Amino acid sequence: MSNAIWYTPALTCRDCGHTTPPRESRLRSAALNPDPSDRWVTPGDLLDVGLLDLADAFEPSALWPPGPTVRALEAWTCPGCRTTQVALVIFADESDAGWRLVSVESVPMTLELLDGVHCVSQGLRDTMYPEQLARLSPR
Ligand SMILES: [Zn+2]
Repeated sequence: MSNAIWYTPALTCRDCGHTTPPRESRLRSAALNPDPSDRWVTPGDLLDVGLLDLADAFEPSALWPPGPTVRALEAWTCPGCRTTQVALVIFADESDAGWRLVSVESVPMTLELLDGVHCVSQGLRDTMYPEQLARLSPR
């Protein structure tokens, strides 16, 4: 049983320009915390998880498996205009120690972005168009 991690960085909405205060973006990843509780993570923090846990939290794309860094996409909802936004979350391999959170940033949803990510959360996939989802599948 694992629970969610919540990302602390402030995020700026691509639609209305609202910037969330730190800890208030409500950006989270389910099933990425080995402890039976929620945890706040900031870039630089080490997560005691393996590659399989990442594949659980973010469904792999055609680029899987990743190299020394994982580029993952997660969904968040702007508290200002309520639109679904995309966050690029990057983790770095620390071998047996786990994966370190490198950065979290709000990014525009483009097909080029989708071509360069290793995995995308189910919550974000649920909001995507068929032509976007197709970019994540092997060709
Ligand atoms: Zn907004």
